[in-house]
Amino acid sequence: MQATLTTFTRDGRAWQPSYLLEINPALCIGCGRCFKVCGQRVMELKGIDEDGNLVELGDDDVEIERKIMTLVDAGACIGCAACARACPKDCQTHGFA
Ligand code: SF4
Ligand code: SF4
Repeated sequence: MQATLTTFTRDGRAWQPSYLLEINPALCIGCGRCFKVCGQRVMELKGIDEDGNLVELGDDDVEIERKIMTLVDAGACIGCAACARACPKDCQTHGFA
């Protein structure tokens, strides 16, 4: 059974946060749409090198095969789910955990 948390909006209506739990690296195209709508700095764009390793962007010595979005501060998520609505690849998992 999945745990849930009910909190409240400003005027007291019930609100169930839907936290970002995971981004599927095989599906993500690194478009950055989720990053743009998040105000909590939960995610960060990173690179995948030719050996499949996750690498920081901006290092000119490393050749990047593609970019993917990663979770870097999951604990800062407020569960607004704006990132899920912005994602064109449906590669995020949300819930309460
Ligand atoms: S659910 Fe909201 S706060 Fe959490 S990562 Fe997505 S946009 Fe950011
Ligand atoms: S919106 Fe979806 S496909 Fe685009 S970077 Fe975010 S998780 Fe990846």
